[in-house]
Amino acid sequence: MEPTSRRDFLRMTAIAAAGVPLARPLIPSIAHRATPTTSRQERKLGFALVGLGSLSTNQIAPALQKTKHCRLAGIVTGTPAKAVKWKAQYGIPDKSIYNYDTMQRMADNPDIDVVYVVTPNALHARDTIKAARAGKHVLCEKPMEVSTEKCQQMIDEVKKAGRQLAIGYRCRFEPHHLEMLRIAQQKELGDVRLIESAFGFSIGDPTQWRLNKALAGGGPLMDVGIYSIQSAEMIAGAYPIAVSAMTNKTDPVKFKDVEESMTYELKFPNGISASCTTSYKVNGINRTTAYADNGSFGLTPAFNYDGNKGWRSDNKPLEAPEVDQFATEMDNFADCIINNRPTSVPGEMGLRDVRTMMALYEAARTGRTVTLEGVRG
Ligand code: NAD
Repeated sequence: MEPTSRRDFLRMTAIAAAGVPLARPLIPSIAHRATPTTSRQERKLGFALVGLGSLSTNQIAPALQKTKHCRLAGIVTGTPAKAVKWKAQYGIPDKSIYNYDTMQRMADNPDIDVVYVVTPNALHARDTIKAARAGKHVLCEKPMEVSTEKCQQMIDEVKKAGRQLAIGYRCRFEPHHLEMLRIAQQKELGDVRLIESAFGFSIGDPTQWRLNKALAGGGPLMDVGIYSIQSAEMIAGAYPIAVSAMTNKTDPVKFKDVEESMTYELKFPNGISASCTTSYKVNGINRTTAYADNGSFGLTPAFNYDGNKGWRSDNKPLEAPEVDQFATEMDNFADCIINNRPTSVPGEMGLRDVRTMMALYEAARTGRTVTLEGVRG
């Protein structure tokens, strides 16, 4: 079921991550800090990575080595040479090495508890559904998928399997973003009224899947613009109810399939609005700012894997510890599974963000403001 109210939103984003059973009063708070609670049992869950590309290789596999409750137990790859390399590097047994056609055999492999889907966006449903049918919990990278129908199918299949589905929203576990949330919720600088957020970079190889709409679902909005949506949702404590957008294209050859840049506005039910930018054209776009009645606060950069920096207009420090965001995210999901509590980054949140992005594309196409209630699937 999709959350539409602020109350539901807060419940999903804050309470679950705090390790508090959902039946307790709704107290959205800094308790969102995502340190796993004490486990019922000291056991590590086995994670299988699907898609051994850049993120799996450079971030997720190294992060797994730093987790408390997880271990790299299996891989799914279409490239036999990668299987050989990963087997040697991480000591993965042959019985836990699969390709995309054999991964349903994981059903017989008790070493694998969680499947982490790290393939191109439009393959997330395919891989999530296979994992769910094999009886595994699923952590799926952002964006959840390229259509709301596919997101809903993923939710339904994982639910049918009696397992949990989480989306890889790493910033939900990043202490600087959690400090932004705390300042907003405790109104340290008054009520937040406006948010500005931007994330973009200059994309290289013109043949990569990120520029292919069938595999990516869209351009920078789907890839990195989603971080601004998430940041605004976190600070506003709600999902947007109306959006407007404008795209820009100066290189129609490279960007024949997807937008090159987008500026977009999100309106929240509590009167907060966010003004956002995303681009595949230029480097160095990486910030989020909240403007409140008595001052402002923000992160520049905001969305890096490490080295994010906070500031406040009252010159007090906005500081937070450095963590491995992927290790924290995976430990949090493992803790949810071990202690049988719901994830704070569920499929429903991923679905809602995909719906928002589809509304943004519709807004850009029509030049109209699109309400989320009114947007087509
Ligand atoms: P990548 O291109 O480096 O890796 C993708 C992997 O999928 C490759 O191993 C590739 O072989 C495999 N694959 C399987 N079928 C494929 C097909 N038909 N076409 C192309 N590749 C196919 O991409 P990546 O940067 O690792 O991104 C993977 C996913 O992770 C994406 O959904 C992306 O949005 C997400 N991501 C998230 C973050 C984050 O910070 N959370 C960062 C980067 C990427």
